[in-house]
Amino acid sequence: MTSHQLAAGELVLLLDSKARRYLVTLTEGKEFHSHSGYITHAEIIGAYEGDTLRSTRGASYTVMRPTLSEFILKMPRGAQVIYPKDIGPILMMADLGPGLRVLESGVGSGALSMAMLRCGAEIVGYEIREEFADRARENVAKFLGEGVLDRYRIELRDCYEGIDEHDLDRVILDLPEPWKAVPHAATALRPGGLILGYSPSIVQVIQFRNALKAHRFVLPETIEVLNRGWYLEGAAVRPDHRMVAHTGFLTVARRGPRLDPLTEVVTDELLDLLGVQDEEQPS
Ligand code: SAH
Repeated sequence: MTSHQLAAGELVLLLDSKARRYLVTLTEGKEFHSHSGYITHAEIIGAYEGDTLRSTRGASYTVMRPTLSEFILKMPRGAQVIYPKDIGPILMMADLGPGLRVLESGVGSGALSMAMLRCGAEIVGYEIREEFADRARENVAKFLGEGVLDRYRIELRDCYEGIDEHDLDRVILDLPEPWKAVPHAATALRPGGLILGYSPSIVQVIQFRNALKAHRFVLPETIEVLNRGWYLEGAAVRPDHRMVAHTGFLTVARRGPRLDPLTEVVTDELLDLLGVQDEEQPS
C-alpha cells in the first residue's frame, strides 16, 4: 500500500485518543459523528494516513487504512466468521498461493475468502444461504475492490450433495458436517491437493478424520491455535488476564495417491510409501 492521499470511496479507520477504532467509508457530503461533535468526510478525503483531525468539539482522531484483520473484526457479518488468529495459520496449513484453484464451503461472511483471495487464489464458493453469499461478495469487494470478483464465484448450493469442480488444488470447509463433503472432495481434488476443515467441536474433528482416512487422504494433522496477549505497562509485564480459550480446530490432509493405471486400485506399496496403514489388511 502506498502513501497516497485518501480518496472518496476508500475505507478508513478513525482512532480516538483511547485507541477505539471506527470504520468509515469515505463519502462526499457525509459526516462522522461521535460523542464529541463530528468531522466531515470532506476533511478526511485528501488527508494522508497518520494525519490527525479534530472534531467540531475538539476531540482528535487519527486516520489509518484498516488492515485485513481490523476489517474482519468490524465488517458486517451474517454468519460467524473465522477469526484472524485462525486465518493466519489456515493460509500456511492449506498452503494458499497465487493461481491455486480453491473450493470453499460455506463462505459465510467472507472473512476467510478475503484472506485467500489476497494470497492470489481463485475461489469457487458453495453456500446454501443467499443472504450470506451476497454479504460475502459485498465484504470482499469493499475491502479488496470489485476487480477481485473475477476470482470469486459463489454458487448457491449444498456442498454435501456434490462438487462439480475437478482438478482442484484446495478444498476448504467451514461446515457443520464436513465429513459429508469428503467423498466429493476426494474426487474433485487433484492428487497432492490439500483439504482443510475448521470445526469448533472435537466430535466433528473425529468424524472428519475418519472420513479422510476412509477416502485415503494422507498426512492428516489437527491443531488448535492458542493466542495469548500480553499486557505491558511500566512494571506490570504479564500475560493478559483474559483470553479467547477456544474457537475451532484446524484439520488438514492431502489427497492421496493416484490409482494404479493397470489395476485401478491404490497399491499397498504406494500406501506404505506414504505411511498410510490400511486397516482392512491385518498387519
Ligand atoms: N468461513 C466463513 C464462515 C462460514 S459459516 C467466514 O470466515 O466468514 C458457515 C457457512 O456454511 C454458513 O454461511 C452456512 O450457511 C454455510 N453452510 C452450512 N451448510 C452448508 C452446506 N451443506 N453447503 C454449503 N454451505 C453450507
